[in-house]
Amino acid sequence: MKSSDKIYVAGHRGLVGRAIVRLLRARGFNRVITRLRSELDLRDQSANFLAREKPNLVVLAAARVGGIKANSEAPVEFLIENVEVQNNVICAAYESGVRKLIFLGSSCIYPKLAPQPIPESALLTGPLEPTNEAYAIAKIAGIKLCQAFAQEYGANFVSAMPTNLYGPGDNFDLETSHVLAALLRKAHEAKINRDRELVVWGTGEPRREFLHVDDLASAILFLLQNYDSPEIINVGCGEDISIRCLAELICEIVGFEGDLSWDRSKPDGTPGKLLDASKIGKLGWKPFIPLRDGIAQTYDWFVKHGAGQFANI
Ligand code: GDP
Repeated sequence: MKSSDKIYVAGHRGLVGRAIVRLLRARGFNRVITRLRSELDLRDQSANFLAREKPNLVVLAAARVGGIKANSEAPVEFLIENVEVQNNVICAAYESGVRKLIFLGSSCIYPKLAPQPIPESALLTGPLEPTNEAYAIAKIAGIKLCQAFAQEYGANFVSAMPTNLYGPGDNFDLETSHVLAALLRKAHEAKINRDRELVVWGTGEPRREFLHVDDLASAILFLLQNYDSPEIINVGCGEDISIRCLAELICEIVGFEGDLSWDRSKPDGTPGKLLDASKIGKLGWKPFIPLRDGIAQTYDWFVKHGAGQFANI
């Protein structure tokens, strides 16, 4: 990888794409290209765009993503939009002669009851978690398409599987967000409103692993520079936490001193999805941002940028 490489980051307005663009530019990659959704519909205009721009590298971070509620209520959109975008971008990348592409999957591609921590070899060894099955099937189709291009045409298309992500620029909409952003916002609003309790979904027992998006960006740059294989590779921090402990930690960081209450009518989802990240670890990559620091930094960002935007206080 050279600093003169032209790099297309698809999905640069999302949590992940934003962080990748930030890091690439900070590291001196001055030919990063991006397009707004209003300028380029990746579902059917990728071929023309990539044929014209001819980037050397593509990072495919464009996807319809969402938390447990959005995923379980809109399986049609999660399945169709993700398959359409990834099929178009991956095929167009091959046709336009892209040297390397990184496709981003998710830890939810693994079976609901996969062994913990989850090794890459667990893929397609058992039934998926129903609340995010449509999204997982779409991502598995993306992995298989990258591997098929590698096998049939020798393409250097890499599939990275990040664990649950969080950080500045996250989605704080309570209907569609993931748990960490949702609880940061709920705790903030409960503190301002002087509420006595904060409602958390489910039982609090499921465990999740959280990786700061800047650590994921560093892993993607590392994979661009050091990993050329169609075999999927996990990206995680190696530690998980129960939703109950996460909620307590967030309340402490935000300064909300009321009680937690549990809405058991909401789904728990998969009991655990801690990734086995030893493969990328052995290659020499490691994360740097401890969970507490990452949450505090994300909370600062939310107070400066997001709290007004999403306020119903
Ligand atoms: P998942 O990792 O695909 O299950 O997605 P989420 O990040 O949306 O949810 C993770 C866990 O947090 C699930 O067990 C949820 O029920 C739980 N959870 C607790 N409170 C909330 C909340 O306010 N929003 C969301 N999205 N999840 C919550």
